[in-house]
Amino acid sequence: MSYLASTDREIFDIIDKERQRQVNGLELIASENLVSRAVLEAMGSIMTNKYAEGYPGKRYYGGCEFHDMAENLARDRLKKLFGAEHANVQPHSGTQANMAVYFAFMKLGETLMSMKLTQGGHLSHGSPVSFTGQFYRVAQYSLDPETEVLDYGAVEEMARKEKPKIIVCGASAYPRTIDFKAFQEIAEGVGAYCMADIAHIAGLCATGVHPTSVGVTTFTTTTTHKTLRGPRGGAIMCGAEHAQAIDKAVFPGMQGGPLMHTITAKAVCFQEALRPSFTDYNRQIVKNARALAETLLDNNLRLVSGGTDNHLILLDLTAQGITGLEAETALGKACITVNKNTIPNETKSPFITSGLRIGTPAVTSRGMKEAEMRRIGTWIAAIVKDIGNEALIKKTGKEVQEMASTYPLYPE
Ligand code: PLP
Repeated sequence: MSYLASTDREIFDIIDKERQRQVNGLELIASENLVSRAVLEAMGSIMTNKYAEGYPGKRYYGGCEFHDMAENLARDRLKKLFGAEHANVQPHSGTQANMAVYFAFMKLGETLMSMKLTQGGHLSHGSPVSFTGQFYRVAQYSLDPETEVLDYGAVEEMARKEKPKIIVCGASAYPRTIDFKAFQEIAEGVGAYCMADIAHIAGLCATGVHPTSVGVTTFTTTTTHKTLRGPRGGAIMCGAEHAQAIDKAVFPGMQGGPLMHTITAKAVCFQEALRPSFTDYNRQIVKNARALAETLLDNNLRLVSGGTDNHLILLDLTAQGITGLEAETALGKACITVNKNTIPNETKSPFITSGLRIGTPAVTSRGMKEAEMRRIGTWIAAIVKDIGNEALIKKTGKEVQEMASTYPLYPE
C-alpha cells in the first residue's frame, strides 16, 4: 500500500497497526476469518466505482456490462456451491439478507419465531433493540435447560401456539448441529415459512461438514465473511418460486446501489469455496474446535452443551467467578482475541456476560492444527483460572506472539 502511505500517512499507519495486531495475535472470534489475497484484491478494485442498481441485464445505469458479468458469476458460483435454485448476492450484510426475507414475506405485526439472543440467536432474529423486534410480533424459543441443545418438541409446541409467519433457525452462538429438516417440517406443519440463517456455518454447510439447509428450508440467508471466508456481506438462497419476491425485497425494497466491488469479491470467494481444499479447510476448522474444546474440558472448565460439533465453543465462566468481559480483557492483553458472550440462562448484561465465545475459522486459515489448539486451550485455561496474574498474562502474550509469527497471514 505504498501509494496510500504517501498520500494519507495517518490512515496508512492505522491499517499497519491493525495488520501487526492480526499478525502477532490469535483471532479466535467465531464470526471472523481471513480472506485470501485474491478476495482482498477484488475488494480493493475499481469495481467500486460503479452504480449498478437493478440486476444483471436490467440495470438502471448504463455501462454495467462488466458488472453484469461479475454478478452473474457470483450468483452462478453460489448456486453451484450450495445446489441452490436461486441466489441473490446483493445484501450488504447478514442483517440485510434477513431483513429482505422478512420484508418480502411478512407484514408488519405478523409473528416471527426464532431463538432467543441470550440462548445463541442473533439481533436480527427479533431482538427488541433491532427493527425486527419492533416491526414484528416475536416469539422466541430457548434451548433445553438441562442439555443446552435445541429442543425440537418445544419448538413445535411453540409454533403451534404462536402461529408464526416465519420460523428462523440458525444462530450466532450455538455449538451444536442444527436439524434444518426438523425445523422445515415444524414450519410446514403450521403453515409457516422456514428461514435458515447459516451465517456462522455457511462454509461447513457448503462442504457437507454440517448438513445444509439449502433445498431443505424455504429460505437460506448467510453472511459471506465467516466460515465462507469471503468479503464482508450477505446472500440469500431460495427456490425459483420465491426468486422474484426476494430480489424485489433486496432492491428496490431495502437497498440502493449494490456494492459491486464486494459482489466481485464474493464471486472470487465462491470459486475458492468450490475447490476441494475448502472442504479440507472446513473439516480442519471442526477438528480444531474439538481439540480446543477437549483441552478446555481437560482443564476442568465448563462448556455450554458440553462441547462442540462445529467451529465454536461457548465457555461458561460462572464457576471461575469471573465475567466474560474480564476474561475477554485479560486474554486480549495476552494477544488472544475472543468475545464475551451470553450463555443460556444468563444473569448478566450483554456487555458483561458470564461466557466467552471462541472460534477456530481464522486460526485454521493460518494453517494451525490440533497441536496449536491444545497450546491455545492451555493458555486460555491458565488465564481464566488466574485472571489477576499479570506476570502470567505477560509471559503468555510473548509465547502467543512467538507462535503466531510462525503462521503468516499471507504466506509469500
Ligand atoms: N445472522 C447471524 C446468525 C449472525 O451471527 C450474524 C452476525 O454475526 C448476522 C446474521 C449478521 O450479519 P451482519 O453483521 O453482516 O449484519
